Amino acid sequence: MTENFSGSFTQQEPIPQDGIDAALAVMQSGRLHRYNVAEGELAEAALLEREFAEQMGARFCVAVASGGYALANALRAVGVVPGDTVLTNAFTLAPVPGAIASVGAKPVFVGVTEDLVIDLDDLETKLDQAKVLMLSHMRGHLCDMDRLLEMCNATGVQVIEDCAHTMGAKWRGVPSGRQGIVGCYSAQTYKHVNSGEGGFLITDDEDVAARAIMLSGSYMLYGRHLAAPSPEVFERVKYTTPNVSGRMDNLRAAILRPQLRDLETQVRRWNERYETVEAGLQNTPGLRLVTRDDRARPVGSSIQFLLLDWSPERVNKVIARCADRGVELKWFGGAEPAGFTSRYDSWRYANAEPMPASDRILAGIVDMRLPLTFSLDDCALIARIIRAEVGAVWQTP
Ligand SMILES: *Cc1c(COP(=O)(O)O)cnc(C)c1O
Repeated sequence: MTENFSGSFTQQEPIPQDGIDAALAVMQSGRLHRYNVAEGELAEAALLEREFAEQMGARFCVAVASGGYALANALRAVGVVPGDTVLTNAFTLAPVPGAIASVGAKPVFVGVTEDLVIDLDDLETKLDQAKVLMLSHMRGHLCDMDRLLEMCNATGVQVIEDCAHTMGAKWRGVPSGRQGIVGCYSAQTYKHVNSGEGGFLITDDEDVAARAIMLSGSYMLYGRHLAAPSPEVFERVKYTTPNVSGRMDNLRAAILRPQLRDLETQVRRWNERYETVEAGLQNTPGLRLVTRDDRARPVGSSIQFLLLDWSPERVNKVIARCADRGVELKWFGGAEPAGFTSRYDSWRYANAEPMPASDRILAGIVDMRLPLTFSLDDCALIARIIRAEVGAVWQTP
């Protein structure tokens, strides 16, 4: 009998009941705008920032409208201006180069390795081209952060971390997003917490934090923040920092606070699912799994494998055969960007140099989401289906 899978790869869990209750209370109050507070009241958005900063061990936090907004805000806050060059990953998603383009800067792409992390040898040759690296921990794979920071510190390159896929992950026990000058996160539905849209940035740098808050659109009401620097710091930046509105509202903040309290549990559940699929795919001929650094504690909210040096026809065959059995795989090697599979040469506004070594890897990357609505049995079944279909195509001449 042929087994099929019938679950949905895009179905997240419901919002926890305490998030729903808190959201209802905000709606009943009518005070959805973060600076609209009653006498003595602390806004949900301000409380969320204080809690997230504490959870990440950061001094400052700003909650904003999206992850992409957090990235652009971080670039402005560290001083990137139009015409600057910003280094970033060739393997990432469109909002990352998009954030760079949105501030008038030019992305210069750094290659990807077979373990799907930034190629540090390639980075080394490009560090003299920029003052900022926007490092995307794409699909949760953390590179050798010790070596990366050593290289960037030695050359004075500031690191902004895109932690859209590493909220809850750790590098040598320290939360991902704490290694660079700014860590940016997303609370969009397909990330690790879900408020539909939303984002955060964290930093220990008081000038960067004050500028980030001014930029987010604080209408000089920065005194209502609970994870912000002291008023003197704002005095230094308040007349020279533009307002680029992108605040988070109290409704989203109310939905997010209980989810952040559950983050550790969710990370454990994602990793069980990842490990189940990974175990089921071990030693599949023709399929390469990603080796992850022992110093990293990732969050397995998706899984990737490589069909390295396979022809496009054969990869397409695998994707189609798995789809027929209910397993939705995404291929980063396709000629046209589809859904979330865009890559550096899809962003033609950036005029990127060709990167043949990365092209070979991108052409082999197959990607699959692992929503928490899947059971461990579902994950084992999915792995059996992929294994069988990869095997069937591999064996046909
Ligand atoms: C989702 C995502 C972002 C941006 O998040 P949005 O909240 O959708 O703007 C940035 N980087 C990566 C790698 C992402 O997957």
